[in-house]
Amino acid sequence: MKHPSVKIFMAVSFLSAGMIAIFCVLAASSEKRQQGSSFAAPELRKAIRRIEKLHTKLARPGSGDWLASHPEEGQTFEEYLKFEPVTPGGKRSTIYFLPIGKFTRSQEKILDKTCKFMEVYYRLSVKKLDPVDDDIIPQKAVRCHPSWGMKQYLSTYILDKVLKPRLPEDGLVIFGITATDLWPGEGWNFVYGQASLRNRVSVQSICRNGDLDKGKAERLQYLRRTLKTATHEMGHVLSMLHCIKWECNMCGSNHREESDRHPMWMCPECVAKLCWAVRCDPVDRYLGLYRFCKREGLEKVADFYRKSYLVLGGSEQKLEGEVK
Ligand SMILES: [Zn+2]
Ligand SMILES: [Zn+2]
Repeated sequence: MKHPSVKIFMAVSFLSAGMIAIFCVLAASSEKRQQGSSFAAPELRKAIRRIEKLHTKLARPGSGDWLASHPEEGQTFEEYLKFEPVTPGGKRSTIYFLPIGKFTRSQEKILDKTCKFMEVYYRLSVKKLDPVDDDIIPQKAVRCHPSWGMKQYLSTYILDKVLKPRLPEDGLVIFGITATDLWPGEGWNFVYGQASLRNRVSVQSICRNGDLDKGKAERLQYLRRTLKTATHEMGHVLSMLHCIKWECNMCGSNHREESDRHPMWMCPECVAKLCWAVRCDPVDRYLGLYRFCKREGLEKVADFYRKSYLVLGGSEQKLEGEVK
């Protein structure tokens, strides 16, 4: 098990010209550990083992993949419980989204779908705060990328100075989202998302998720990428470390192809952590996920959730005719 003060960097090494970027960065802090829930862990673990047959073990990493350059130890369900993870508790139960800067109408729609998906994925209420103007980010936290020339915000500044002070009293987390590119500091090219394992803050950019004006397939790709980053980062907010055992949404990614390859769903080990942390019934959760994905045209994911729901004893009747 990793000590909570350890810093975990998820690096992306792009192949050309020694460029380095990062997929997401975690920074564990020394904030006092939060009390875990009392959801019956052994029963939950046992029930969820039934879906193992639907999942694929992680193959040996290719030379450019995350685990080839970052040999992580992973985190079993039992290790997770010992970690005393951040969980909802008392009135601290809402996921707050804070849009930073301007979004196009199409991007706004993606943001609304992301809020809805987070609600279904984590079984917690999600509220979108009024956007803040991006001029709250001072010039010292803005740069033009030295080679590409694109505008970027310093993600660590957003976490510490923009989000942390704005975490509402009933907030489990405050989640910043921006359409501008992010970078996490010296030596890095960019970052898609960054979360803290202890501080209940996370930020992500949708800047690199594709082009929403290029037709349906591209829109779905954009949506998938946004949902995956948000749910991955939220896993970190609940103190989940990267998965090294299964093809899983909690796997680290070293490049875009690898992150696209990982599924939107979590593996049996990680989903047990999630259900324990938020005290949710996995069967109801899979039904909600199936309905969302079916409605949005994410057919492959919907089918996976449908199978998971049925394997765990969900009712066939409830599945039929309810998705509008
Ligand atoms: Zn990560
Ligand atoms: Zn996993």
